[in-house]
Amino acid sequence: MTAQYQVHGAVAVITLNNPPVNGMGLATRTAAVAGIERALADAAVTAIVITGAGKAFSGGADIREFNSPKALAEPSLHTFIATAEGSTKPVVAAIHTICMGGGLELSLGCHYRVALPGARIALPEVKLGLLPGAGGTQRLPRVLGLEQALTMIVTGEPVLSEKLADTPLFDRVFAPGADLIAEAVAFAEGIADIRPLPKVRDRTVDHPHAQAVLQTAREQAAAKAPGYPAPLECIATVGASVTMPFEDGMKFERERFMHLIQSTESKALRHAFFAERVAGKVPDVPADTLLRTISSAAVIGAGMMGVGIAMNFLNASIPVVILETSQPALDQGLAALRKLYDNAVAKGKLKPEQLQQRLALVHGTLDHADVAQADIVVEAVFEDLAVKQAVFRALDVVVKPGAILATNTSTLDVDAIAAVTGRPQDVLGLHFFSPAHVMKLLEIVRGQHTAIDVLATALALSKKLRKTGVVARVCDGFIGNRMIEQYSRQAGFLLEEGALPAQVDAAVERFGFAMGPFRMADLAGNDIGQAIRQRRAVERPDLAYSRTADLLCAMGRLGQKTGAGWYDYRAGERTPHPNAEVDAMIVAHSAQLGLERRVISDNEIVERLVYALVNEGARILAEGIASRASDIDMVYLTGYGFPPYRGGPMFYADTVGLPAVLAAVEHYAAGRHGDAWTPAPLLVRLAAEGKTFSA
Ligand code: NAD
Repeated sequence: MTAQYQVHGAVAVITLNNPPVNGMGLATRTAAVAGIERALADAAVTAIVITGAGKAFSGGADIREFNSPKALAEPSLHTFIATAEGSTKPVVAAIHTICMGGGLELSLGCHYRVALPGARIALPEVKLGLLPGAGGTQRLPRVLGLEQALTMIVTGEPVLSEKLADTPLFDRVFAPGADLIAEAVAFAEGIADIRPLPKVRDRTVDHPHAQAVLQTAREQAAAKAPGYPAPLECIATVGASVTMPFEDGMKFERERFMHLIQSTESKALRHAFFAERVAGKVPDVPADTLLRTISSAAVIGAGMMGVGIAMNFLNASIPVVILETSQPALDQGLAALRKLYDNAVAKGKLKPEQLQQRLALVHGTLDHADVAQADIVVEAVFEDLAVKQAVFRALDVVVKPGAILATNTSTLDVDAIAAVTGRPQDVLGLHFFSPAHVMKLLEIVRGQHTAIDVLATALALSKKLRKTGVVARVCDGFIGNRMIEQYSRQAGFLLEEGALPAQVDAAVERFGFAMGPFRMADLAGNDIGQAIRQRRAVERPDLAYSRTADLLCAMGRLGQKTGAGWYDYRAGERTPHPNAEVDAMIVAHSAQLGLERRVISDNEIVERLVYALVNEGARILAEGIASRASDIDMVYLTGYGFPPYRGGPMFYADTVGLPAVLAAVEHYAAGRHGDAWTPAPLLVRLAAEGKTFSA
């Protein structure tokens, strides 16, 4: 049974019970509908209360039944809602904690709604590229009015029940701490005899300037989320609540919902939703692995990354010791940390008392002995193997046994770092992305000897730090940077062959990337890429790359930090302005290489950058560096600004069709620097077998 039935006096109470959030799966719907029928058949019952057990009224659809025939099986959610609405005895929704999606749609089908304060009320379907498909677009405007319903449906953001207490959505919002069931039963007794039964569908949406409101909403949605059809469809269906009779509006909602659920964008967003959930599961790490305790941390190096990493721990109330080599470097790091927090306070993102709490937990030191008791140490010193090995040797001597030793290296061999310690089982990579206190991605790099419980603890820690943890095996660049290198190489070749930075960036940004490769390089600092290329030139002299970026560094144009990189930046601004000298340098370099510059289409730019990611991603998958294609997608969605509505590079390749991707790869393999395009064997095989990366 996933809904319980009890009678309190003359009131039947049906309690949805499907942990964790009473998702309305088939069994729950069946039991709840049976409960309503039982109450109707019982002459002693005069009213019905529907509520939810545990931590929610209902979170909506049961995501475990997504993409399964159970989702649409009878009694469907529509049938459940119609049964409640059509009941000849009044039905009261007793709402608490979470009332979202189908849960809110159900309550809107009930005759009355009562709630505790603090309940989060939302129709979040838009976040999965959908619209509320069980009457939400027609009923919510009928109780909240056009504008508020539009905002909630188009953003998907929750609103607290007490903020809606004065609207017809709620008949009663009780005092904090009230006994919801007792209050709801008393309320039901009070309204049991009132006829006719009030129905949201019988209300109308009156707004004197409805069309103007809808037009503004359309313009805002198109500007804010180009590439996303769902917000516009939400606006169109909410608009139908004004212009159409209820039943016609419901039909329209159904039709647009079915259209969206087939859309690539919604499929991609749902893929990303599930990808995030599975990323935390590693095949050989049992779910019940005993975790190590993390109640204190140390960070080695107070540079840009060290400071951001320390803030992650502080934000999770974990005390941090930061170790530096000199007092000036330490002071500078602590001042940078303070400044970032001060900015957060100034923007209202952090309360002054929270600032004090965080600052009280951080402590700077120059003495290794002060990190000895940390449960986890994260090293963020210069990207140099010898420097990092020296740090780990020193840590091995002082840090207590059982502590986790992590390196934030972007590209170096984690096993070579672990090998200088007497405890390689305790060592792993924790690759934070810049700015580390903001970016969601945490690549967890599993060394050859990393213990299972260390890995499990790192995954749990990523959740505690509110990051998306993705596990990678050791290789140069792990998942994200190994792939981005192929992307950057293509970006460089494109400049030599005829493109300019602004064209490349614009094409990629139109595809949906948050930032094109040259704006990205200016943000990260062009010297960082140069250092990596210099190391590669020694290790992999066979790998060709464009020298254009090195010529740029030689011009002293290191990026935003120097006010000039691929673009010019005015003081205090981040807007890129193309620079004629840079463009001339690029054109001159082509001539020097003996290349005749040609017009390059935006399509070629996008294909060469994105398929370079896909081809390398296929190798990473085949080598087991990533354990599933969706992990690679998660890395790109959360760390590299890949457009969410395209689902990540591997999912995108699946939607294009692997034979078409392979054909393009083979085409480029026959061109200049064709060796960069040797098709990955996995891509060749899957394309031949008619399969996808996701499957
Ligand atoms: P940074 O140069 O800003 O900071 C490094 C700091 O480490 C300096 O303050 C230096 O004084 C300190 N340091 C050096 N040796 C030390 C030692 N033995 N003990 C204590 N402190 C020491 O560098 P960063 O950009 O913060 O990068 C740090 C690490 O993070 C590198 O491995 C880098 O590859 C990696 N990383 C950087 C980025 C990025 O975008 N910058 C992103 C991800 C990872």
